[in-house]
Amino acid sequence: MAEKGLDVLPIFLDKPRNILIASHRNPDGDALGSSLALALYWKQKGHTVTVILPSPYPQIFNWLPGISDILIFDDQEQEVVEKIDEAELFVFLDFNHLSRIDKMGEPMEGKDTPVLLIDHHLDPDLSHEYYYVDSTASSTSDLLFDVLTRWENTSYVEDPLISTCLYTGIITDTGTFSHNTNSVLFEKVSRLIRSPIDHIAIQNRINNSLTEKQLRILGFCLYHRMILLPDEKTGIIFLTKNDFTKFEIERGDTEGIVNYILKINNVKIAAFFTQQPTIVKVSFRSLENYNVAELARKYYNGGGHKNAAGGSHFKGLKSAMELFKEILPEFVNQPNNE
Ligand code: 5GP
Ligand code: MN
Repeated sequence: MAEKGLDVLPIFLDKPRNILIASHRNPDGDALGSSLALALYWKQKGHTVTVILPSPYPQIFNWLPGISDILIFDDQEQEVVEKIDEAELFVFLDFNHLSRIDKMGEPMEGKDTPVLLIDHHLDPDLSHEYYYVDSTASSTSDLLFDVLTRWENTSYVEDPLISTCLYTGIITDTGTFSHNTNSVLFEKVSRLIRSPIDHIAIQNRINNSLTEKQLRILGFCLYHRMILLPDEKTGIIFLTKNDFTKFEIERGDTEGIVNYILKINNVKIAAFFTQQPTIVKVSFRSLENYNVAELARKYYNGGGHKNAAGGSHFKGLKSAMELFKEILPEFVNQPNNE
């Protein structure tokens, strides 16, 4: 846990400000939930707030309050650049390196606009004016709960729209309370669901919302594209360029598939390789002490969390998977992994 400037930021926000909130490419429920919750809060306080993302959000989140006001850099570059130029404060949520927002970060570089960073990924950049970071936190929404309750004695976190967003972030990043939970988190969640929100309906919207096509793609992956390496307690799923064409796989259709590998008894490490048009995207998940963020950072130009990480490979699918099988024995046998 590290923080800076949280108690002086409200002084800067004493008068109405123009604030820009940015989150990461391929936003998940935590990126969206935390961004929209903070936007709702500051709008209630009289600020002008814009949320920007590098790429579109999954349609399963289109019911989140305020989501249709988000500007997408890939589609609305000019507007996003204008908002960046106008902003008096940048807020980075759920990512901590500009590489996670790639081209959208370029217009921000070199500006002296102050930055607030709230994030739970490893190795945050602590050169910013204001930050609240903790890589052991369940989610950025969890950290934002702390910040909001610190700034306000009143119950903003129990505002139904804000609590909907924060609850969405927390259940997304904890796999609906199956990892990264503790008694303090449950206390926070208990406060969130004091507001009149239908939290079970929110869970259903997030967890039980696959299309038929997506469930059939999952079935194909499990039946035809899964390789198990029992000696390494590892499972792999891969999808080729041909698979993408044949099944008309689109962005978001493969979300969450990697998690199924860990359902197998004795499998502790899961890897999912997909051949995208120009790169191979790699997703890792693990249980216990296997630190897949280290693998992602060292070998796949990526990063993330100890048990959920990802990156890319630039020499094709076969090469990406061969590299993985090569580095795996040493990774599995590292003493700190047991
Ligand atoms: P996913 O496998 O769901 O795409 O990503 C899981 C986690 O890994 C994300 O929450 C993010 O922290 C991290 N991650 C995924 N892809 C990348 C990447 O290309 N670079 C970095 N730095 N982190 C990534
Ligand atoms: Mn997150």
